[in-house]
Amino acid sequence: TYVVTEACIKCKYMDCVEVCPVDCFYEGENMLVINPSECIDCGVCEPECPAEAILPDTEDGLEAMLEINTKYSEEW
Ligand code: SF4
Repeated sequence: TYVVTEACIKCKYMDCVEVCPVDCFYEGENMLVINPSECIDCGVCEPECPAEAILPDTEDGLEAMLEINTKYSEEW
């Protein structure tokens, strides 16, 4: 899955949401999040993000952010 990180906070662009083929972006408290169980790992959103806030969860140190993405996307 891909993960939205802190760099998303206060970003007003929604380019990622528009390109996602499975509509798995949701609104968190002050940033967008990706629902890990819906993300199909296509990677299309990553280059679209102007804040470079979207990373694959294979990168180190994303455990806490993955938890936040999971929490906020499952409240919907
Ligand atoms: Fe959507 Fe693909 Fe990005 Fe996952 S990697 S959030 S499926 S655009």
